Amino acid sequence: MSNNGKRVAWVTGGGSGIGEAGAEALASDGWTVVVSGRRKDALQTVVGKISKAGGKAEAIPLDVSRAADVNQAAEQILAGHGRIDLLVNSAGINVPKRSWADMELEGWDKLVDINLNGVLYCMRAVLPAMRRQKDGCIINVASWAGRHVSKMPGPAYTTTKHAVLALTHSFNMDECVNGLRACCLSPGEVATPILKLRPVVPSEEEQARMLQSEDLGRTIAFVASMPPRVCVNEILISPTWNRGFVQTPNNRD
Ligand code: NAD
Repeated sequence: MSNNGKRVAWVTGGGSGIGEAGAEALASDGWTVVVSGRRKDALQTVVGKISKAGGKAEAIPLDVSRAADVNQAAEQILAGHGRIDLLVNSAGINVPKRSWADMELEGWDKLVDINLNGVLYCMRAVLPAMRRQKDGCIINVASWAGRHVSKMPGPAYTTTKHAVLALTHSFNMDECVNGLRACCLSPGEVATPILKLRPVVPSEEEQARMLQSEDLGRTIAFVASMPPRVCVNEILISPTWNRGFVQTPNNRD
């Protein structure tokens, strides 16, 4: 299947934070970008920003925890563009009640549905097209918490992100023969809206020392820019001032 130089990326969680920055970086590298997430207005703002900068983008509102809707979104992209070259799974959440002391099953289920099942649903939805193309890249945004167990993110987040890491490697084991590759991108703390869901929200000063969304945007664009022969299996990236290493009062909470 010829693509005449057109490269199509689908970014979930594209309305804010890492997904938004990834979408912008990809668009400025010439990718046609489809951003998905639950908030239509946030997605439209991102599309507007990309279009204003001369890039190509569109929005498909979507809750990634609904498998049928995910399949429908993938079909819509294929109907409109004929291919999907890149999937970036950035949609994800945590909940304030996250420790063993106060976690609720509702929160656990929500995290499993979005952070783990949502990633799988999107991977499965693009797989037939990528196999037909014999080319395709997937970037799953996991977390430092998917590599290292610590108290702050809580058991549900830590477990789902570890599972995303395993899911990514298992994908490469099976799909490398079809020309497909997946990268597990595991950031430490990034100053994005997800931090507002923390029991203790880091101060502005602390957030300024963290990774910024555009750092991850550039990382996503880098992985996506590699030739099909290259599989970047994993990236573990953190702020130089890593609060997991540098003890501060907040990360003991
Ligand atoms: P963010 O809150 O800005 O982005 C998450 C996005 O996912 C939001 O736009 C949200 O609307 C969307 N989303 C949530 N549930 C959804 C659903 N069911 N369907 C579709 N979209 C949904 O925060 P972020 O930091 O950019 O998070 C992006 C990813 O990075 C997440 O998977 C998060 O776990 C991961 N991550 C973040 C950090 C950090 O410190 N910010 C660190 C490591 C990993």
